[in-house]
Amino acid sequence: MSIAIVVHGGAGGWNKSEEHREIALQACIEAAERGRAILLTGGSALDAVEAAVNILEDCPVLDAGRGSYPNTEGEVEMDALIMDGGDLSMGAIAAIQRVRHPISLARKIMRDSGHNFLVGQGADAFADEIGFPRCDVEELLVNEPSESTIGDTVGAVALDENGNLAAATSTGGTANKRPGRVGDSPLVGSGAYADNWTAAVSATGYGEALMRVVISKQTCDFVGLGLSAQAACESAIRVLEERTGGEGGLIAVDARGKVGVAFNTRRMPHAYAIDDQAIVANS
Ligand code: ASP
Repeated sequence: MSIAIVVHGGAGGWNKSEEHREIALQACIEAAERGRAILLTGGSALDAVEAAVNILEDCPVLDAGRGSYPNTEGEVEMDALIMDGGDLSMGAIAAIQRVRHPISLARKIMRDSGHNFLVGQGADAFADEIGFPRCDVEELLVNEPSESTIGDTVGAVALDENGNLAAATSTGGTANKRPGRVGDSPLVGSGAYADNWTAAVSATGYGEALMRVVISKQTCDFVGLGLSAQAACESAIRVLEERTGGEGGLIAVDARGKVGVAFNTRRMPHAYAIDDQAIVANS
């Protein structure tokens, strides 16, 4: 059985400096390496995607965790979703403030809250109840203001040696969004989806468009109909474009470890590792 991990650093406009692009690409490579190391030592796809996303959440030029864009009030509200393709369990969080690693809180919601999705005061109360680490907003606000609306959301998908798939997406959302705005990222089937019967997918781009075509589930369904992971990603981006005029990007891995990457933005830093083969990385 193959193992595979794919990560992305968002399909934002990337009208950024060469230096920032290089930092984002290096973070993707590091995240893919870390995820692969977990998978090669028998770790689960869920552990691999969480660890990979934690690295991307720490990268100051990416719009997730540290580096998230502020909303119009100067606050940071983050969204995240993690999903296990084995039993379709999921954990999601929206508009959470003052955490460094929203994806890890989403995983705790999946495992320990008795629910799938928490927001607002209830999410804060759960985080405090389980002693989840909190931080000051200043720790998160380190990114340069973005000129493009869509950001540098992060995500990872993986296949482990037991044939389990998992997907994770984490974001600070679009730059200068209205307080309370929730994008596609934490919505199951939109920001991510994982199903051992088909594929694991993570999405990025203009959330107001992505959620209308439920793009990650759409991509899994294309794999279920017999398309390769690559063709499924390309087809779902075509649906996004033709039905909504939206911009975005997708990463996928199918149940046999085949990888897909597609985007209709100028750039999307990403990296993938299959078994012990050389990492492939591009932006
Ligand atoms: N999809 C994210 C959102 O709309 C933004 C992004 O992918 O950068 O919140």
